[in-house]
Amino acid sequence: MEKREQLYEGKAKKVYATDDENLVIVSYKDDATAFDGLKKGTITGKGVVNNKMSNRIMQLLEKNGVPTHFVQELSDRDTLVKKVKIVPLEVIIRNISAGSFAKRFGVEEGIPFAEPTIEFSYKNDELHDPLMNAYHAVALGVATWEEIDTIKAMAFKINSVMKEFFLSIGVKLVDFKLEFGKTADGEIVLADEISPDTCRFWDAKTNEKLDKDRFRRDLGNVEDAYAEMMRRVFG
Ligand code: ADP
Ligand code: UDP
Repeated sequence: MEKREQLYEGKAKKVYATDDENLVIVSYKDDATAFDGLKKGTITGKGVVNNKMSNRIMQLLEKNGVPTHFVQELSDRDTLVKKVKIVPLEVIIRNISAGSFAKRFGVEEGIPFAEPTIEFSYKNDELHDPLMNAYHAVALGVATWEEIDTIKAMAFKINSVMKEFFLSIGVKLVDFKLEFGKTADGEIVLADEISPDTCRFWDAKTNEKLDKDRFRRDLGNVEDAYAEMMRRVFG
């Protein structure tokens, strides 16, 4: 399958049409942004890590009964996926306090939760992705109750599969962001990516950060952290 016209260029990926109207090619860049696009940079090799890791996790999820957009890895940076209509919600699951949760509720980072939490943000750059609850999403026609229920169940299932997998490679899955989309035949599938850009990963023994927080917070060794996650995921 070959790339045809570029349909979209985002902050981290480009999306291309193909000769099949139901398939697109996503191409992962090394560009990194944080704080609503205010901080910009390059993480050398990130596109390769995110592409390959995301595909590995999506295949693991498929094996565990979670439908995803993944079709075929085409190269180090390019993957063929089902074209979906993205549900404009960022779905965030948390197992341990960190980031905006710690800030919003005035607690330290690193508190493990007895049960995972879920929250939604409205995926809208002009509005800076405001927090949104399920009632707001239904009121605005962003999703139906049935779709919200499906998304919630899929998100928690994804969390259990991922938590177990990452623990087996010595990594705590702190929190992560998911995006879902609707295929041409109306099925809700996991879309976008699962990578150190979209998850917080802490080393299980030392709590060392192995994700984009190294870039956000200028902690150094950013490329090393991505490479280390790649090494662990592919053993
Ligand atoms: P952003 O748009 O936030 O800058 P990216 O640079 O990652 O993010 O761009 C990728 C875009 O492609 C995102 O808007 C994402 O929602 C969208 N997308 C992800 N998977 C699919 C898919 N299977 N079909 C269509 N669009 C997708
Ligand atoms: N996240 C993401 N994209 C976003 C916002 C958050 O991938 O636009 C991920 C982030 O990497 C983290 C989780 O979602 O793993 C929770 O992020 P949080 O709400 O704590 O926000 P942040 O601290 O990134 O502002």
